[in-house]
Amino acid sequence: MSLAQDLWFNTEKCFINGAWIAPISGGTLPVEDPSTGQITGAIARGTSADIDAAVDAAESALTGEWGRMSALERGRILARIGQLVLTRVDQLARIEAQDVGKPLTQARADAVALARYMEFYAGAADKIHGETIPYLDGYTVYTLREPHGVTGHIVPWNYPMQIIGRSVGAALTMGNACVLKPAEEACLTALAFAEIAREAGLPAGALNVVPGLGNEAGAALSSHPGVHHISFTGSVGVGKLIQKSAGENVVPVTLELGGKSPQLVFEDADIDDALPFLVNAGIQNAGQTCSASSRILVHRSRFDEVCERMAQSYSALKVGPALSDLNVGPLISARQKEIVSGFLNAGAQLEKIGEGVIVSDAPQSGHYIAPTLFAPVDANHSLAQDEIFGPVQVVIPFDNEDEAAMIANGTDFGLVASIWTESGARQMRLAKRLRSGQVFINNYGAGGGVELPFGGVGKSGHGREKGFEALYGFSTLKTVAAKHG
Ligand code: NAP
Ligand code: MG
Repeated sequence: MSLAQDLWFNTEKCFINGAWIAPISGGTLPVEDPSTGQITGAIARGTSADIDAAVDAAESALTGEWGRMSALERGRILARIGQLVLTRVDQLARIEAQDVGKPLTQARADAVALARYMEFYAGAADKIHGETIPYLDGYTVYTLREPHGVTGHIVPWNYPMQIIGRSVGAALTMGNACVLKPAEEACLTALAFAEIAREAGLPAGALNVVPGLGNEAGAALSSHPGVHHISFTGSVGVGKLIQKSAGENVVPVTLELGGKSPQLVFEDADIDDALPFLVNAGIQNAGQTCSASSRILVHRSRFDEVCERMAQSYSALKVGPALSDLNVGPLISARQKEIVSGFLNAGAQLEKIGEGVIVSDAPQSGHYIAPTLFAPVDANHSLAQDEIFGPVQVVIPFDNEDEAAMIANGTDFGLVASIWTESGARQMRLAKRLRSGQVFINNYGAGGGVELPFGGVGKSGHGREKGFEALYGFSTLKTVAAKHG
């Protein structure tokens, strides 16, 4: 089935106030299939005028049907969106595979996760509330948990469905009205989500989607004085710009930025258990994952064994078109391939111990990179310090727990870490000591974990999404103190 046959909505329009509307500038941007490098269609090039219209629509929704809707009803709508997503999982997976180059199985998992976010937040909508506070004689004091108002959502291209699910899902749950700016390179499933939300009966203006460029539509959204909260997932550089513009308007931001997440393998680790996690966490989505585990720290007594086994796994990795559904697909773009190639050049002096295979029928014009494993690598090398955002991992030896913790904490980032050891005491000590938003013990990623609060420390960002915690971030607290004598 061709991509065009799967697209049941108009890709060249913005979704504003419950309707599909041509961008005011009239411009479009090309849609590229990273597996082939071919242009397969077009999306709207929204600009600041469309963002203005979207923010106005969101503001009106807050004073209209959406703003008056009970938490129960909001939950029911989210549940309906989740059900409709589930009926289209395979279709959404095909669309995503051809838009961002994600192997079908991984794209399908993203679509299922999108539905799961809707289910989780649908159930949570009427279970989050304020409290009463014992106070002075003659007073009754209580708190109300209220939406911020209009929330802006700027998402990247690597996991569009999952990031829309966690950010827009939580914001709608709390009664905010959303304006979403998807990444220029990955707008199709964002538009599909808008159409599904419309079909599910989401009131006009509660969700608005304006595709476009980061420095046009994105910058207009993040600096818009009518936006009351910004949720941004993306690079550190753009995150700083977003925080600055939010600062001008004095509005809160959630920043989900990059990572250099380590896995720590101790002398008593079960390597059979660890091995698939050590490799998959590095190559999933071709390494274009904020929580990719790009650093593997191994106790010197097991170093050779782990390197050898990881290298074996690497030689079995097949890279090819997303629709062939191999282990690894192409990178998102020629530009991303250039960035990752630059890192591989920077590692030219290092020992390359493992490499995947690009299948022979992968189109030359696709953006393929063979997964690459380097070892041993010094903890201060750029490949061990900088986020690569490609299928590249380094293995670093350590001699004791203190050194392992020091290396693990020795980058600017702190998103995810994992500890492989049978020692309960070491698990507990390190779980506290690692500077990281999430720590996993004898696993990595815990299967995605819609329920598990997620976010970073340091340059990985601040604020938490996913789980119940996101609902606090997407709401504000009002204290009501009544003196009645
Ligand atoms: P990016 O360049 O920062 O882009 C992210 C989003 O910001 C896109 O929608 C982009 O639009 C938009 N944008 C770009 N310039 C902007 C501006 N001046 N003002 C407002 N918005 C602007 O990041 P990326 O290259 O797409 O994604 C890779 C990065 O995201 C990596 O560093 C990765 O670690 C991080 N990431 C983090 C998480 C997490 O949860 N922590 C998850 C996924 C990715 P256009 O693309 O249309 O220009
Ligand atoms: Mg594309």
